[in-house]
Amino acid sequence: MKPALRTIPPGLHFVSTPIGTARDITLRALDVLAGADVLVAEDTRTLRHLMEIHGVPLNGRQVIAYHDHSGDGQMQRLLSLLAEGKSLAYASEAGTPLISDPGFELARAVAAAGLPMSAAPGPCAAICALTLSGLPSDRFFFAGFPPSAQGARRSTLEELAGVQATLIFYESPKRLAALLSDMATIFGSTRQAVVCRELTKRFEEILRGPLGTLSDEISAREVKGEIVVLVDRAAPAEATEDSIAAALDQALKTMSVKDAATFVSQTLGVSRKITYRIALDRSQG
Ligand code: SAM
Repeated sequence: MKPALRTIPPGLHFVSTPIGTARDITLRALDVLAGADVLVAEDTRTLRHLMEIHGVPLNGRQVIAYHDHSGDGQMQRLLSLLAEGKSLAYASEAGTPLISDPGFELARAVAAAGLPMSAAPGPCAAICALTLSGLPSDRFFFAGFPPSAQGARRSTLEELAGVQATLIFYESPKRLAALLSDMATIFGSTRQAVVCRELTKRFEEILRGPLGTLSDEISAREVKGEIVVLVDRAAPAEATEDSIAAALDQALKTMSVKDAATFVSQTLGVSRKITYRIALDRSQG
């Protein structure tokens, strides 16, 4: 389908691009790529190829390479173009810019300079994986790529062990077995996890199970392709009479006995009747 040719307003336009299937590009992304004055890309060859696939002509426009380590000169060049009122489309190698990809330094500089900025949202491996994982999506924590050195990786996992949200990691296939093994040790072998491989591509695969089982399965086979690992949140610590009393003492500083009992029973997931009885005792002395 040919994009509608539109004038793109001045400013920086982040463009999300497919993480596999080329047809996952959005119509708006194609509009921006077709209409921007200047194209900017983490990898200029990848962007040119994507535009070719979708029949978006370059028409002699500049394609500038930029990533977060391109240096101040390149950043100033882009800011000057924006200050002149040009429209710039920025695409990273794949998916959404800034998500384990370049773009943050540019967004920060454009925001600081008060220049206009927009995003044409679209594919992102973390969100695609969360959608397919079957794990709770009410709260999630995107942890990006864990450190590759084992000591640093284990420290990172220890920091994240108690986070009450679905954890999402990107990982290279070479380090997947080591990551799952460390996760099984630190998070516990029974915690549920999901490995999503090659999302939106021909060999897409989703593996679900307890960390111990996934770790054994992955260490026994060769893994290729792009990977997202998701881990269920830790089971909440069981409330004791002491922890209920401590939470109530805190709540009673600003709330009535009734409200404090309701608040604490909901927060700790314990019976309101028990919480109310303890709240009454605490308030009376
Ligand atoms: N900006 C991208 C996004 O929005 O998801 C992420 C870029 S990051 C450099 C590349 C990593 O994302 C891969 O190593 C992998 O962990 C994950 N990823 C990207 N595409 C994927 C896919 N099709 N299937 C599974 N994981 C993918």
